[in-house]
Amino acid sequence: MLSCLILGGCSPLFYLLAMVLPLFSSHTLNPHEHQDHTEKERPKLLLVSFDGFRWDYIYRVPTPNFRSIMDEGVKVEFVENIYITKTYPNHYSMVTGLYAETHGIVANEMYDPALNLSFSMETDSVYDSRWWEQAVPLWVTVQKDGGRSGAAMWPGSDVLIHGMFPTQYLPYNASVSFETRVQWIIDWFSAPKGEAVDFGTLYWEEPDESGHNLGPQSPLMDAIIAGIDEKLGFLINELKKAGLYEKVNLIVTSDHGMTQLSPEKIIELDQYVDRDLYTWVDKSPVVGILPKEGKLDEVYELLVDANPNMVVYRKDNIPEHFHYQHNVRIMPILLEAKEGWTIMQNRDGPFMLGNHGYNNTLRDMQPVFVARGPAFRQNYVKTSMRSVDLYPLMCHILAIKPLPNNGSLLNVQDLLSWEPTTSFTTPTFSTVPPKVNRYSYAPVVGSFIGVVMVLGFLVVYVILVTLKQRPVLKHRSWEMSQPLLQEDLHL
Ligand SMILES: [Zn+2]
Repeated sequence: MLSCLILGGCSPLFYLLAMVLPLFSSHTLNPHEHQDHTEKERPKLLLVSFDGFRWDYIYRVPTPNFRSIMDEGVKVEFVENIYITKTYPNHYSMVTGLYAETHGIVANEMYDPALNLSFSMETDSVYDSRWWEQAVPLWVTVQKDGGRSGAAMWPGSDVLIHGMFPTQYLPYNASVSFETRVQWIIDWFSAPKGEAVDFGTLYWEEPDESGHNLGPQSPLMDAIIAGIDEKLGFLINELKKAGLYEKVNLIVTSDHGMTQLSPEKIIELDQYVDRDLYTWVDKSPVVGILPKEGKLDEVYELLVDANPNMVVYRKDNIPEHFHYQHNVRIMPILLEAKEGWTIMQNRDGPFMLGNHGYNNTLRDMQPVFVARGPAFRQNYVKTSMRSVDLYPLMCHILAIKPLPNNGSLLNVQDLLSWEPTTSFTTPTFSTVPPKVNRYSYAPVVGSFIGVVMVLGFLVVYVILVTLKQRPVLKHRSWEMSQPLLQEDLHL
C-alpha cells in the first residue's frame, strides 16, 4: 500500500482490500488478543481424571466416548507423568506444573523431618495445609485472578491451601457416585454469570481400584474399562443437556497407568536388613527408607546389591531426570522395584495383582490424554508431552498468568486451535490455521470496524476525486462557500 501512495495510481479496490484484510488476520481471531482481564467472559475448562486409566485402555475395548473426544479434539499418545507414578504426587503435578520434589507431595505416604509429621492418604493428615503449601494449585491462582473454581473430589481440593478452598468443592467421600459428582459439576458451570465456575476438576477412583485388585491383564478389566467409557458418555450427555458441551474445554486424563504383578515376584526386605535399623515410610514399588540415626551407611550397604530386581539409591544419587531429590520429604534411601516386582518386608502383608509407582518412563505407567473444546484443534494426534506441561496449557486456556513451573506451553501449544500471543506466554510460531472461537467477539468487532473504515475510505476517496477537479472549480468554490459562511455567521 505504501508503494501505491508513493507512486500513485492504485485502484480504489486495492485500497479497500489493503484496509480490510488486516482485520481478519490471525491476531484478530485470537480470543485472548483483546481480552480485558478485569471484566472478561472467562474461558471454561473442566479437568477430569479417571484414576489409573492407562494410555492403551482405549484400544482394548470399544470406547466410543473417548473416541468421539479424540475425533472432535486432540489425543496425546505418550504422556510422561512424574516420578513417582503415584496418585497424590501426580494429581498435584497436574494442577501445579511442578515435579514432586518442588510441590512437596512426594508420595502417598510421607514423613517430614522438619515438621516431624507423617502423611498418609488413609488418614486425616491429608487435611493439614502444611503438606500442600510448598506449591499453589491452579484453583487458588484462578480465584486470585478473580475467577471461580469447582472441585469434585480432586486430591487436595478439600484442603485449605494458602488460605483458600476452591469456590465450590465436595469434601472427599468415596461413596459419592460419579453421576452425583457430575451433577455438581454441571450445576457449578451452569450457575448465573458471576456465580458460575470457570475451572472445574472431577476425579473418579476407577479403574485404579479394579486394576489393583484384578491386575490389568485380567479379562475382567474389559468390563471395567467399558464402564469408564460409559461414565464419560454420561458426562458428555449432561454437558450437552446443559448447553455446556460447546463452551467448556474438556480434558480427560489420568494420573498414571497400571502394570501386572505376580506373587512370584516379591522382594522381602526382612531377608536383607533388620527392621530395627530403619523406618519404612512409603510403600512399594518405590519405597522410602529412613535409617535409624547413624545407620545410613549400614542400611545402604546391606541393601545396595541385595536383589537384582531392586535398584537402591542414596538420596544424592537419585538420577537427575527423575526430579526427585531436593526435598526433605524424600527419604535418605530409596528402593525402586523393577517393573512387575513388589517390595515387602515379608509375604504376610496384603498383596495386589496390579500396581503403579514405578519408573515414569515405563509405558505401562503412563496415562491416557484426550481433550476437546473451543481451545483445541480437531482430530489431531500429538506424539508426546509431559504431564507438567498440562499446567501452562490450562493457564493459557483460562487466560491467567501461570506461576513458575516445570512445564512448557511451547511443548504443547500445537494442541491449541489458536496461536498463543498473550503477554505472559512466549509468542511463537503456529502451524495451526486460526479458528473463530465461539466466545470471541473479535470477528464481530473487526467486521464493524472494517465497515466503518470502508465508508471512511469512500468519503476520503470522493474528496480526493473532488479535489482533482479543483483547478477548474477553484474560484467558484470559494465564491459559493463564502456567502454561505457569512450567512451562517449572521444567523
Ligand atoms: Zn492406585
